[in-house]
Amino acid sequence: MSKGFAPEPYKIKMVENMAIMTKEERKEAIERAGYNTFLLKSDECYIDLLTDSGTNAMSDAQWAGLMLGDEAYAGSRNFYHLEKTVQELFGFKYVVPTHQGRGAENILSTLTIKPGDYVPGNMYFTTTRFHQERNGATFRDIIIDEAHNSQIDLPFKGNVDLKKLQALIDEVGAEKIPYVCLAVTVNLAGGQPVSMANIKAVSELAHKHGIKIMYDATRCIENAYFIKAREEGYADKSIKDIVKEMFSYGDGCTMSGKKDCLTNIGGFLCMNDYELYLQATATVVQFEGMPSYGGLAGRDMEAMAIGLREAVNYEYISHRVNQIRYLGEKLDAAGVPMVKPYGGHAIFLDARAFLPHLTQDDFPAQALAASIYEHSGVRTMERGIISAGRDVKTGKNHYPKLETVRLTIPRRVYTYAHLDYVADTIIELYKNKEQIKGLKWEYEPACLRFFTGRFSQK
Ligand SMILES: *Cc1c(COP(=O)(O)O)cnc(C)c1O
Repeated sequence: MSKGFAPEPYKIKMVENMAIMTKEERKEAIERAGYNTFLLKSDECYIDLLTDSGTNAMSDAQWAGLMLGDEAYAGSRNFYHLEKTVQELFGFKYVVPTHQGRGAENILSTLTIKPGDYVPGNMYFTTTRFHQERNGATFRDIIIDEAHNSQIDLPFKGNVDLKKLQALIDEVGAEKIPYVCLAVTVNLAGGQPVSMANIKAVSELAHKHGIKIMYDATRCIENAYFIKAREEGYADKSIKDIVKEMFSYGDGCTMSGKKDCLTNIGGFLCMNDYELYLQATATVVQFEGMPSYGGLAGRDMEAMAIGLREAVNYEYISHRVNQIRYLGEKLDAAGVPMVKPYGGHAIFLDARAFLPHLTQDDFPAQALAASIYEHSGVRTMERGIISAGRDVKTGKNHYPKLETVRLTIPRRVYTYAHLDYVADTIIELYKNKEQIKGLKWEYEPACLRFFTGRFSQK
């Protein structure tokens, strides 16, 4: 292994065998799946980099925690453990569990958005924007322009452009902005972090106008790692202290436990406002369940509480982020185009630069993800024109500047040897990129079309 990369800070106690298929079998499988990697069977995938969501390997302590599940309908002791852990690590007063992140997004959006409102955010996320729009809001992107350019290398490419936020406040008025949705890190920008200085400045500007800051906290531990590694004054602070400081500038968060909580399911909503908390407990019972389980089994809340504490361990998080860097550096050395700098959870290949012979209407990222699977058995996903969907008002396609294929690394699942295989096979494919054909729609679902859409080759 190359210099500068520490070995895995965990050892293997249980193994899961992987599917090994021939290239002919994979060609058939991806055709059957309508060239959509979401529609492949897991058993057809060798290394599965579709997502880091819910694909985490739990620790022995978490598995032991599952046996401590208190499955009482109300007042489960695991809820109190989770609540105490979140209060301690995030610093928010109130915690409402939900079955996953979008459950929290649904409740937050339903309670705080009125038709005609605007929700500014540092780049959109699919389910987050869906719930904002579903409740009548218009999403406004306030991320710095550089985040939309795959070739600009900045330490905090997820930062908010304060001028964009100020311009929106001037244009529509603060009373039309229920909250700023501040994502740490920014998934679709390539897992890019937000600096502490920027968080502070956004918070000051928003609060001056009486606007709340609600974090999308999904990958907050990864964001904290980047602050420690890159921002002046944080090198000697613990991940735990940085996470707590990040959230001290805001009013609440939505959390997908399937990412940085190191679990397979779960999520929660936090806030400091008691009124909002009361409303959230009244809403959670309609969609998820009692406020003391929110659609989760007691054992899953226990695993989430334990996982969150493991996630703030420095050896864990530095290994995780370095795995991404390792894959990025190998691909980069061979000239494979990708979003720079490397993010916290994934490498995002630049599909337009990878496939210059295709236009965006040939769905280059969708086509590249399908080809990577066929060539190597590695499952990845499209984050480009298909994921971006259509404008809800005009029905026209969004044309995102970033047309990417995401190689998402599940937490604690794969070793550096697996990443070597991924890099080597993608480099081979890059050398034969002219053979990759564009795609066209066979079936386009009305919303969140990337999950279940089907395609054929042009
Ligand atoms: C996954 C994710 C969500 C939604 O969470 P789910 O648990 O999948 O419902 C929200 N925001 C971001 C940035 C995510 O990555």
